[in-house]
Amino acid sequence: MNVIHSPCAQVAELDEPMRTRKELVRELTVQRDRLTTALESMPQGICMVDETGRLTICNRHFLEMLQLPANAFDDGKTYVDVLSGSPVFGEHIECPVRPYAAEYFAMVWSNGPANVQQQWFDDRVMSITHQPLATGGFIETFDDVTELRRADARIAHMAMHDALTELPNRALLRQRIEETLLHGDPAGFALLYVDLDRFKNVNDTLGHPIGDALLQQVAARLTQQLPTSALVARIGGDEFAVLMRSDTGRGQIAMLAERLICGVSDPYTIEGHDIVIGTSVGIAIAPEHGDDWAALAKHADLALYEAKSAGRGCYRFFEAKLEHSMQAHRALALELHQAIGRHEFELCYQPLINLHPQRINGFEALLRWRNPKRGIVGAGEFVPLAEELSLIVPIGEWVLRHACWRATRWPEPLRVSVNLSAAQFQGDGLVDTVASALRESGLAPHRLELEITESMLLENTEAVLAVLHRLRRIGVSISMDDFGTGYSSLSYVTMFPFDRIKIDQSFTKGIDERPEAGAVIRAVTGLCASLGIVSTAEGVETIAQLDFLSRAGCDEAQGYLFSRPRPEQEIARFLASWEPGESRRAPILSEAGTDPHAEQDDLS
Ligand code: C2E
Ligand code: MG
Ligand code: MG
Repeated sequence: MNVIHSPCAQVAELDEPMRTRKELVRELTVQRDRLTTALESMPQGICMVDETGRLTICNRHFLEMLQLPANAFDDGKTYVDVLSGSPVFGEHIECPVRPYAAEYFAMVWSNGPANVQQQWFDDRVMSITHQPLATGGFIETFDDVTELRRADARIAHMAMHDALTELPNRALLRQRIEETLLHGDPAGFALLYVDLDRFKNVNDTLGHPIGDALLQQVAARLTQQLPTSALVARIGGDEFAVLMRSDTGRGQIAMLAERLICGVSDPYTIEGHDIVIGTSVGIAIAPEHGDDWAALAKHADLALYEAKSAGRGCYRFFEAKLEHSMQAHRALALELHQAIGRHEFELCYQPLINLHPQRINGFEALLRWRNPKRGIVGAGEFVPLAEELSLIVPIGEWVLRHACWRATRWPEPLRVSVNLSAAQFQGDGLVDTVASALRESGLAPHRLELEITESMLLENTEAVLAVLHRLRRIGVSISMDDFGTGYSSLSYVTMFPFDRIKIDQSFTKGIDERPEAGAVIRAVTGLCASLGIVSTAEGVETIAQLDFLSRAGCDEAQGYLFSRPRPEQEIARFLASWEPGESRRAPILSEAGTDPHAEQDDLS
């Protein structure tokens, strides 16, 4: 196919001597071949049209791209006539699937240079450049950029979507929110932050591939639960977000949040593992809770934090007061960070009283924070924060070393009980820390008892049990604290041979008012007796409670009735003056009032 309409035939008519003419023909032929090669090796389609509107030159790619036969221009038709009949541009005016054709011909008829990018009916994307010539006519190049555009689209998709779940990512969520805010939808919308509870445990215990599969299944469930108009995004490791219209009102949004929580918490089976995962939801509504992305995201996050603090597995709407409590929380966190370096922690000790016969078995070490501005802060007020900030590991290590060292000053066989947090079970450090605290203080291992709670077994059960067995081999005792407050207390008793079970103080308090509390105490003391486990009742404040516990066969008691937690320098005096049965004669409660930290007035 001669796609070059060259002027070679006219060479013979040139008024030149024969030899020169021959040479000229040869030279022009060479040039023509070079031009043909150059044109044919171009990846673009190219054509040149003269001032009469007829094609003078084009390459094979041009014909192929426009699906034209090689002889399309042979009978002297104009360029526009041929292209109007081409499968690509044909019927361009009437045919709605080819709106690009009208745009193309407008460019052809225009006088200036132009470039358009068009998606043709067969999905090819063409970049067409139109260059008018000084002599009249024009050159046009057609560049097939379909693959390039697909790659661009893939990159754009990747930039806006999460690779694991294929859900939109934070950037797209933000873009959608900003667009929605810009268009000022009067109905408003709700932003829900959905965060999986304790997802890290799944990754840690079952491995990342199972964690990833779980995230994919959660993503699918969230999408199924929501109307198609809602946008579900994955905005972090185990954090998802939902953007939805809020014209249905708060009640409907709350119901939907409930539905999401229930839907996500249905058990999953992944590679033979049954997995249960909870979720918490924080909700901010626009424009009520913010009219820009930053405010809405922050407020949904605060509401989520509140849902987690409220025990997880629930939803919370943003409220203005959350902002104040978060500021206070941040200030406390900052001070807690500084407290370690400033040596602001102290230990108090509360006696554990053997009931039959009455004698002191030992003391529980309870942490206090002497804050320069706030005064003495009780463990309940800052230990959860220290856990959240991962500060509990260094603090817990200090507690262990200090308590062991202090207990060496007490007469044998008095023991010291130390509370542990879940974070201390992560990694390998705990067993070494305990061993070195014993070695350095010289405390006999049987005089140290470690208290764990059921919640630690709930998470990461196997790893925690393995550490407990190693600790037991060192010779320390292990007790189960706050027994009865967890989900399946009885099953934990069978998992590990605990030395002691501390019945939670809520049961002791309930003795006077709730018959079931008494029944639980009797059942637990009976169970402990038959399993050879010591039973300790926490929070004993009245003689009536003590009498009930004695009759129920409880072995040991702890509570304000015997003594509040005391500063360490008071213990020697307490030991010297304590007598069995003294609680009956002078109940401590009536002397010291009910402030659980009143004893710290004595700290100096
Ligand atoms: P816990 O281990 O169950 O400790 C008993 C808590 O009950 C102590 O509160 C104690 O002061 C309080 N208590 C004792 N007797 C009575 C009573 O008769 N009535 C009432 N109403 N309360 C009584 P505290 O010291 O505020 O500690 C709270 C919790 O903080 C502890 O509960 C324990 O879980 C945690 N904790 C304390 N010290 C440490 C520590 O060194 N490390 C860790 N990880 N947690 C600690
Ligand atoms: Mg305890
Ligand atoms: Mg307790």
